[in-house]
Amino acid sequence: MKLIDTHCHLTFDDLKDDIDGVVARSIEAGVCSWVTIGTEPGELEGVVALTERFDNMYAGLGYHPHDAKSVTDDDLRNLRKLCAHEKAVAVGETGLDFFYDQSPRQIQKDIFRAHLKIAEELKLPVIIHTRNAFEETMEILDEYKGRLKDVVIHCFSGTEEQTRFVLDKGYHVSFTGIVTFKKADETRQAAKMVPLDSLMVETDCPFISPEPVRNQRPCEPALMVHTAKKIAEVKGMSLEDFAEKVTETSKKFYGLA
Ligand SMILES: [Zn+2]
Repeated sequence: MKLIDTHCHLTFDDLKDDIDGVVARSIEAGVCSWVTIGTEPGELEGVVALTERFDNMYAGLGYHPHDAKSVTDDDLRNLRKLCAHEKAVAVGETGLDFFYDQSPRQIQKDIFRAHLKIAEELKLPVIIHTRNAFEETMEILDEYKGRLKDVVIHCFSGTEEQTRFVLDKGYHVSFTGIVTFKKADETRQAAKMVPLDSLMVETDCPFISPEPVRNQRPCEPALMVHTAKKIAEVKGMSLEDFAEKVTETSKKFYGLA
């Protein structure tokens, strides 16, 4: 079994200090490739440098909507430059977060659009973070209709209607450990609905450890097996079959060898 953790933050403090251990435990568990995500100005160089150390590690680069207010034009130029690196496989995470509202909404929208422009120019897929801003996020994506290589809604926990909506748009959906939580029936229902050629799995570590290890801190890529197991179960498949399909989808989406 060879799974890909399509969204993790391996340069965050909790993980980077033990990165060799994190990677070794991940491979041992069957999670053999990673897309590690940079989210802040000043952090992206470190993310790219880390991906240069490990064969099957790739980078998603962007500025999180939380940090939108501090992003300068220079930061955007730097983002564009780093996204051209051979290990950079996606732009993001980017999007809108109207739950925490850590940056003014208009600035979040402007910075989100700037990311989409870079993705269009470099023909890279986009990783979307959206919280309490589903409609506004979809409206902005619509402005770029037909111009983006591919789109994934990361850490998805949408309603049935939202799931149908994103699938109709041709977007991909990525599930975290939330799908394993006892109260997450709606997210499991979404996982059931999403066809395997549109579905990916991620940890979003160091956050969101899945059941039955929900209290483990930090979360790390090795734990993604629990999430994959749960979705395979929901879909009535063996873990091996599910892993094969979801890995194929992830490789295709991110253009991995
Ligand atoms: Zn993330």
